[in-house]
Amino acid sequence: MSKLKELGEFGFIDRIANKVAPGTGIAIGIGDDAAATTQSLGSLTLTSTDMLIEGVHFDLSFCDPFTLGRKSLAVNLSDIAAMGGRPRYFLLSMAIPEKLSVEFLDEFTNGILAMADDFDVTLIGGDTCSSKAGFVISVTVIGEQRPDRIVRRSGAKPGDLIFVSGTLGDSALGLELLRNGVKQGFAVARHLDPTPRVREGLALAADKLPTSMLDISDGLISDLEHILDCSSVGARLDLDCIPLSATFIASHKNTLKKSAELFLSGGEDYELLFTAPPENRQCVYSLFKKIGTPVSVIGEIYMSTGLTIASSKGFEYISAKKGFNHFG
Ligand code: ADP
Ligand code: MG
Repeated sequence: MSKLKELGEFGFIDRIANKVAPGTGIAIGIGDDAAATTQSLGSLTLTSTDMLIEGVHFDLSFCDPFTLGRKSLAVNLSDIAAMGGRPRYFLLSMAIPEKLSVEFLDEFTNGILAMADDFDVTLIGGDTCSSKAGFVISVTVIGEQRPDRIVRRSGAKPGDLIFVSGTLGDSALGLELLRNGVKQGFAVARHLDPTPRVREGLALAADKLPTSMLDISDGLISDLEHILDCSSVGARLDLDCIPLSATFIASHKNTLKKSAELFLSGGEDYELLFTAPPENRQCVYSLFKKIGTPVSVIGEIYMSTGLTIASSKGFEYISAKKGFNHFG
């Protein structure tokens, strides 16, 4: 176990810089006071940043450093995906406590660079400092998209269908399992190593299929309410149509109430939630089929505000704009 003190700040930055694969569009990368990059002609720059704080967003006893590195970038790529954008570059800032070894940090940076490689984005800079408390990670992703293809939260129209990619609730189930000492399996992997839906977001934007979109980070209800607020519309969700994985269904055979809490309000699924007019439904299905990701229609947008959640099993939940009622 080597200490960061022996390497020093600049030795550590060099160590990261030496691992970065060259990317396109970078005139100046790591090593100067600022990076200089180009973007495609006619595109707007999309910028998004997220912090991950030890004890708040992650627990070092649950995750290995490589996977934590992957997730630190994945959650940011997911935000660019949710705009329909193409991520290109990223900045990595870290406040590092003394307890973390060089080996840990090497694995962390290997993980983040592996995720970068998966989605063809390049590290162009950052900041490195010491922390007197926990490990703090901040990632900023820079992407691009033509203005007419960018998808916002505000375009949902009455009559639009509500779509969601993948399955919901796995990440929340995974976190619950981790807290109970389970270290592996599908749900745990969905929590620790989420896949940002970049290809899906880009393909949707290229065909201009969605009217609004975001990624589910806080939970389906809370994130859908952002779309409803921004678009000044309401919605009805069909509880029976919410896509659940086989793992999720098998682990929650007993109570619908408990499992509904996980898939309606559990966060960190990083799936795309979007709206599109019914005439786009087949195009959405075939686009996702080509990519190999599931997609489902889970409800419809209405003119009146508020959110209703219905189920054929006789449930009906109505949420006022604030404070979703968790099944009383
Ligand atoms: P300054 O003091 O001018 O802010 P720094 O010494 O902080 O510069 O950084 C030197 C160079 O190293 C810059 O190009 C910066 O972007 C890069 N850098 C610093 N920390 C990191 C990091 N964690 N990951 C990638 N690049 C980094
Ligand atoms: Mg600096």
